[in-house]
Amino acid sequence: MDLNLSNFSAGTASNLVSEHVKVLILGAGPAGLSAALYAARAELAPVVLTGTAIGGQASLTHTIENYPGFPSGVGGSELGDLFQKQAENFGARLEYDSATEVDLSRRPFSVKTYSKEYLAETLIIATGASPNHLNVPGEKELTGRGVSYCATCDGWFFKDKKVVVVGGGDSALEEGLFLTRFASEVTIIHRRDTLRAGPILQRRATDNKKIKFLWDSVVTSINGEKAVETVTIKNVKTQEEYEVPTDGVFIFIGHKPNTELFRGQLALDERGYIISDMSMHTNIPGVFVAGEVSDPIYRQVVTSAGMGAAAAIAATRFLEANEDTTPEETVNA
Ligand code: NAP
Repeated sequence: MDLNLSNFSAGTASNLVSEHVKVLILGAGPAGLSAALYAARAELAPVVLTGTAIGGQASLTHTIENYPGFPSGVGGSELGDLFQKQAENFGARLEYDSATEVDLSRRPFSVKTYSKEYLAETLIIATGASPNHLNVPGEKELTGRGVSYCATCDGWFFKDKKVVVVGGGDSALEEGLFLTRFASEVTIIHRRDTLRAGPILQRRATDNKKIKFLWDSVVTSINGEKAVETVTIKNVKTQEEYEVPTDGVFIFIGHKPNTELFRGQLALDERGYIISDMSMHTNIPGVFVAGEVSDPIYRQVVTSAGMGAAAAIAATRFLEANEDTTPEETVNA
């Protein structure tokens, strides 16, 4: 899921209806929905702004094999539905709306959407991350016409066709393996000669007869009139450049956190991830964080869900500690 709230321009409406909430959660991936479950069970009636989709990036994964409790794996979108139902069963409210503007300078924090202003005593930011782009000629123009960032969404269109996958991490291999269900040939293009992906996926990919590897290679342009026809490849060791015919280009080269909305208000690291402590506190008391928006390292469904639970517990303790205080008097619980 692309919960890239930074894509939206700031809200301009001046007469927005406002609602006061104890816990406002931005994002409905595993982190946001786990935070919602825990905050709901603490009877804090959390509201979740879902952004553009529910379930997070995990919902775009065909099968998740490493979420505990599902020994045979679970469908990504099915797991998202289960997270949602469980949070709603305990009283979480999902609003199909996106934050357009936030003001974290005083508490309650103001979060504006297209239709409303929320005044939140605590805020849990779980806006996730979005896929990185190659930024090569043809990529933007041919997105949706052969260029894709989601094999689960688009793999079906490449039945019996040739595709290339860019990247050497877990995502590239996992998605490449998924694409072998449809494509006649999957070529994984990696800029080095050793993969970053873990050993299980490496073994599965190298054992799969439909998968080929192009090592030490980068894509320098994606070419085609109406749809992708070829990619230009450069060997980074020999500098040789040549074209490879292909019907599809799937790009899995990491992610960037969705934090544009908070820039200048919250402490971010040099890559844009929100800085937090072990208890999910940000540098602003009452603002907590969970999931990939603050996690460049683990990025697993289970770790995001755990961070969501921790953020909700921290928010609950914060509210207890600051029950009768004004914003100026707030303390980090
Ligand atoms: P990643 O681990 O950051 O890997 C990104 C890959 O893209 C790397 O191989 C990198 O090359 C390559 N790359 C980066 N920028 C590039 C560029 N401009 N041009 C060409 N190649 C480029 O990202 P990820 O695969 O999305 O995985 C992210 C996290 O999610 C990881 O922690 C991973 O373990 C986790 N994950 C886990 C699973 C699973 O457990 N089943 C599935 C998916 C993701 P270098 O190797 O040279 O840096």
